[in-house]
Parts: sequence; structure tokens; C-alpha cells
Amino acid sequence: MIIGILGAGQLGRMLAMAGYPLGLHFRTLDLSSEAPAGPVSELIVADFNDTDALKRFARGLDLVTYEFESVPVDSARFLNRRVTVLPPPEALEVAQDRVSEKSFFERLGIPAPRFLAVNTWDDLKNALNEIGLPAVLKTRRFGYDGKGQFVLRKTEDVSVAWQSLSGVPLILESFVAFERELSILAVRSRPGETRFYPLVENHHQDGILRLSLCPAPGASSELQSEAEDYAKRALEALNYVGVLAIEFFQHEGHLLANEMAPRVHNSGHWTIEGAETSQFENHLRAILGLPLGSTATVGHSAMLNIIGTIPDSRKILSMPDTHLHLYGKAARPNRKLGHITIRAQSEEARGARLAELRSITEE
Ligand code: AMP
Repeated sequence: MIIGILGAGQLGRMLAMAGYPLGLHFRTLDLSSEAPAGPVSELIVADFNDTDALKRFARGLDLVTYEFESVPVDSARFLNRRVTVLPPPEALEVAQDRVSEKSFFERLGIPAPRFLAVNTWDDLKNALNEIGLPAVLKTRRFGYDGKGQFVLRKTEDVSVAWQSLSGVPLILESFVAFERELSILAVRSRPGETRFYPLVENHHQDGILRLSLCPAPGASSELQSEAEDYAKRALEALNYVGVLAIEFFQHEGHLLANEMAPRVHNSGHWTIEGAETSQFENHLRAILGLPLGSTATVGHSAMLNIIGTIPDSRKILSMPDTHLHLYGKAARPNRKLGHITIRAQSEEARGARLAELRSITEE
């Protein structure tokens, strides 16, 4: 079996690594010859819109999946006429545009921050009248890691944000004074079997995910059910196959959906050591129509992203139950270069271990 992956970043690399024990082989497509999944797959270097390259990529593949959500939808559909693409390209289409994503949530009764589409200065003024301050102005497409967005707290912020972002379609959202950020990873297989991982608590730094904790401290079974219910609606509406991540704000004890990612997700990296079955293996099982693996946690996990510079590996590996993953990327400010997962017997032990780890990574 050869699985094609659109994108050869670290997610593609970890997907391939999870697939080898199942006897799978991988071909990836990426713009960069240095992409992290290159060493663990047959890498084709080309533009995602290059139809000749897409044809070459598709030749002999059993299935195609993707590891980033900016894959051009037309390219996913082009491939889907030759070889099955999962998750369905429609999921890409919904997730690529924040307005269609939030409209999708609205349609399914999934609570989300109030929003309005903004194309002109007049739209922005009207939207601000409706939504009020504080608010967040974001680009509708191609925003990631907090890029392409401004928090508007006072009137003076509005023209600054407009000058920086106007020219592309925008969305204005109400600012949510959330208690914390959580995500759920859901997985649905071709025959419709569905499983959920426990809620993950996420901490961002400069708009980039820095730390994930699973199980999320104090997450009640009611909150878990709320997240599962919303994820199930999204999975079913899209006839979804694969792993789907939904990011939430916890506000007044309930969940508001911020965005979804139709792929394996950074807030699920802890599952490699911290769950019975990793998100990567379950994604592959799902698209292959195999039985899904247990999503139960193994202990209390914390995943810390390595961003910008690689800390002393020796010190990290001298800690018990600590797992280092490096993606083989050149160091650059704000770049995700790897991650570290620690696993502990209790929430308290996890906290203590994490403090020790942070003293190493931040020294
Ligand atoms: P996003 O690219 O939409 O995931 O936004 C990146 C980060 O900005 C989120 O993880 C939040 O920390 C923050 N953020 C985004 N939208 C809002 C909002 N409507 N209210 C408050 N904070 C937000």
C-alpha cells in the first residue's frame, strides 16, 4: 500500500513514521526539497497547483491524504478523480475560509464567537457597530499561528489594523475573554466508527502553540461530552474520514468553537506516547477503513513545542519518561523545530516534571 500525503512537514513525517509498522509506504508532495518528511517518504518537489506533478504524484497510489489545510481545493479535487482523497476535499474548503468555517459551525448549532465578513471600510464600521469592541480582525484565509490578525481594543486600533490587513477578505469576530483554550481530536473511519481523545488544554505564546496538557486539568465529563457532541456533528455533516481537530475557547464554563483543522494536529502530538493509539496511527487506520485504536490516555502528558532554537538534547533525555522529537529543520526564529512529551503518573507529577523541563528549555 502506498499512501500519498500532500505536504511533507513534520505532520507528514509523523504520519509516515506511524504507518511503517502497519506495512505502509508513503509518497509526499511539497514545495521544499528540505521538507521534514523527505527522509521518510518518496518526496516529489513541486507546486501544489502543478497538474503534471499531481499526475506523477497520484500514479500508483492507493489513497491520498493531506497534512496542511492550505492545500488548494482544486488540486485535492483533481487528485480525487484519480485516487480517493481523505479527509474529503469539502472539509478543506470549509476550513480554509474563516467565514465558511464559522457559518458551518452556526449551521450545525456549534456555538462560536459572533462574526461578520468584512471587505470594505464601510463593512468594518458596520461590523464594529454590531459586534463592538474589543474585537478581532482576521484575514479569512491563510492565517496560521496568529498571523494575519489584530485585536482591536480601542478605536485607534481600527485604522492601524485596517491599513495592515485590508486588500484581502477579512472577518471581524467578537473578542472572547476566555478562561482557557482547549481542543478535541476526533477520528472517524470509512465505515463510520468514531472515537474521541480527551480534551487537551493549550497554551499559546506569540500566537504559536507552546504547550498542550492532556488530560486537561479539571475538565469535567460534561465538558468532554459537549466537545464530543460538537465534533460528532462536524464529522457527520462532512461524512468525514480521518482525524479532525477542533479548537475551542472555554468561556463561562462552556465551549465556543474557534476553528477546525481537517488533519492531524499539533495539540495531538502527545498521543504518540500519551495515548494507547497515536493520532497519526488512528488517522491512517481511519482512511484505510481499519478498526480504530483506543484513544485512552496513558498517564498524564504534557507536550512542549521546541520553537526557534533546539535546547540541550542531553539534558532533556536525562529526564525520565521524557520523549524528544526533532523534525530535522534548520533553526529559525518562531519555527517549530520539534517537541518534547513528558508523561507522568499524576497531574501533580506532570506539573513538577514540566517545571524541570522548562528550566532546561528556557535556560
Ligand atoms: P486563530 O488563528 O484563530 O487560532 O487565533 C490564534 C489565537 O488568537 C487563538 O489561539 C487565541 O489565543 C487568539 N484569538 C483568536 N480569536 C480570538 C477571539 N475571537 N477572541 C479572543 N482571542 C482570540
